[in-house]
Amino acid sequence: ATPTSYHLTCLNSAQQLLKPRSKFSHKGTFGHALLVCGSYGKMGAAVLAAQACLRSGVGLLTLRAPAAGYTVLQTAVPEAMTLADTNKKHLSSLPKELAPYTVIGVGPGIGQEKTTRAMVGQLLATASQPLVIDADAINLIAGSDKLKAMLPKGKVIFTPHPKEFERLAGKTANNYERLERLQEFCREFSCYLVLKGSHSAVGTPEGTIYFNSTGNAGMATGGTGDVLTGIITALVAQQYSLEAACRLGVYVHGLAGDLAKAEVGEIAMVASDLIRYLPQAFQKLL
Ligand code: AMP
Ligand code: MG
Repeated sequence: ATPTSYHLTCLNSAQQLLKPRSKFSHKGTFGHALLVCGSYGKMGAAVLAAQACLRSGVGLLTLRAPAAGYTVLQTAVPEAMTLADTNKKHLSSLPKELAPYTVIGVGPGIGQEKTTRAMVGQLLATASQPLVIDADAINLIAGSDKLKAMLPKGKVIFTPHPKEFERLAGKTANNYERLERLQEFCREFSCYLVLKGSHSAVGTPEGTIYFNSTGNAGMATGGTGDVLTGIITALVAQQYSLEAACRLGVYVHGLAGDLAKAEVGEIAMVASDLIRYLPQAFQKLL
């Protein structure tokens, strides 16, 4: 194998990655994202991912959630359209048509019911657009060789935290081995993978690894990962390459955390603070 090539995403590289909006753009220019998310008792994950997606510049956003989430999402996220599943508490099916969507993000709050695993299988079998795969969607794929074999090449971004990464790619003895495994996994499945942590690492199919330079321990709190899924999904919708979406997404997510830290500190920080600071974070990169 070729030696691993390590890089850092710093302020300068994030500024170069960010594309300013053209005066002649319209909402169609910025893509239509579908977020497949939520289950009974975890609809907050869907709300966080959706709000973050909207604050990251997506043109249009549709949500697919269990029926019990319909009123929650229509109330908490008025900018998004909601297509409710017939199943009340857990996702069991996809919208009839997937063609309208530029990108599909799946996972925040979905749980691991059998019916939801079947829905993830249906998604891998039918989607032709890029996929951002997080949380229990990662766990469901990790637990099924059949689903793993269905992963499309070059079109998937995984966003696991270390435990989810271990389920997906196997146990490793130390941080160095984990980075080697990250590289092997991305090559084997021709995928992009954001290994989240205090220095999140983005792996690419070519075997390159980009470390992030923003973020703080205040972000070690429930829901911050769901925010990241929304951000990266929005960037892919706007035609960023999958590599750029991962690097810029992780950078701006951490920067929002650093801005939130200046106001609320690390101890009191919650995931929705990151969403409140996304506007300032993007402004700093213009
Ligand atoms: P999740 O576990 O899916 O909610 O994701 C947690 C998010 O918070 C990821 O984006 C992590 O990179 C970030 N995070 C967690 N702990 C830290 C930390 N100590 N320093 C910086 N970022 C962190
Ligand atoms: Mg998570």
